[in-house]
Amino acid sequence: MTLIDSDPDSDLAPLEFAVTRNLLGASPERRAEILADPGFGSSFTDHMVDICWSVRGGWHRPRVQPYGPISLDPAAAVLHYGQEIFEGIKAYRHADGSVHTFRPDQNGRRLQRSARRLALPELPVPYFIQSLRELVAVDGDWVPSGNDQSLYLRPFMFAKEAFLGVRPAHKVAYYLIASPAGAYFTGGVRPVSIWLSEDYARAGKGGTGAAKTGGNYAASLLPQSEAYENECDQVVFLDQDGNVEELGGMNIVFVYKDGTIVTPQSDSILEGITRESLLQLARDRGHKVEGRSVSLAQWREGVASGDIVEVFACGTAAVVTPIGLLKGKDFIDEQPLGSLALSLREELTDIQYGRREDTHGWLYRLDA
Ligand SMILES: *Cc1c(COP(=O)(O)O)cnc(C)c1O
Repeated sequence: MTLIDSDPDSDLAPLEFAVTRNLLGASPERRAEILADPGFGSSFTDHMVDICWSVRGGWHRPRVQPYGPISLDPAAAVLHYGQEIFEGIKAYRHADGSVHTFRPDQNGRRLQRSARRLALPELPVPYFIQSLRELVAVDGDWVPSGNDQSLYLRPFMFAKEAFLGVRPAHKVAYYLIASPAGAYFTGGVRPVSIWLSEDYARAGKGGTGAAKTGGNYAASLLPQSEAYENECDQVVFLDQDGNVEELGGMNIVFVYKDGTIVTPQSDSILEGITRESLLQLARDRGHKVEGRSVSLAQWREGVASGDIVEVFACGTAAVVTPIGLLKGKDFIDEQPLGSLALSLREELTDIQYGRREDTHGWLYRLDA
């Protein structure tokens, strides 16, 4: 097993997982039925991974076990104080049947950064990657092979200690579940409409915006409902200075007339791995890439003047989504549509599915 060279934990011995097979798992017929039209996030594979952590024992009791309900004490800290983090990463089946994932070291490191902010223990990156391998070893048949299909892997960690006092929990659980995912957009990628959240923020300066934690999503649900009420697909958030942050589950990218690509940068934005990878592909093509603030006024003026020629959102689940409309309480701005978003999307997915050479060494084989 290749571990990540630059990681300080790379000389850790692998964990010894105890594997309990699910004897009541889906039949091959039932699985085929699910994989024919998996949707997103509603069906799950037969197994899950679980590793315990305690102040005294560190990481221990690594297991692969049948997928099923988790038994929690009603006083478990996560249920009261939301001490929780997660990740999202996909497994892709290549034409030769092999199963690969994309930059898992990046997700592993981000899980560690999220853990630090939420006062949770940092799972060593080699353990993180091993957990993905262990699950794919038992549930590999759940990685679909259809166009744009994948197995969405959801690692998460939460405070399970039964204690109502407010402090970092002394007992924590790490889990990994997996859900087959179909093409995110049925009938091809179409531009989305975005509602500007003017009354609600998702994060604040010094807050948890840069961590992948459930609380940020909880804070985004009401503004997301407002977006639906205003016939928009998604919501975009601003920071307290009126700068564009992100969509709450996807990063945002602006393309300028001269080919420059700009994406907001601040410590309240979640640093997406999809965004970072797309920007690298753009740099490879000779685009200038800048991480800096973009105010709402600059966005609207840039579109009005023709300086901004394309706006898109990106993240693991949907990959790349062009933005076709920005709607606020008292304005509707149509957004210009270009070809860069979709061409970068194609290049990235070609790499992920093994249809194009992986010159950056981003792929990691999970089933060998
Ligand atoms: C996960 C996530 C993203 C996208 O990150 P990827 O690594 O590209 O999937 C963007 N914003 C938020 C808030 C997220 O949780």
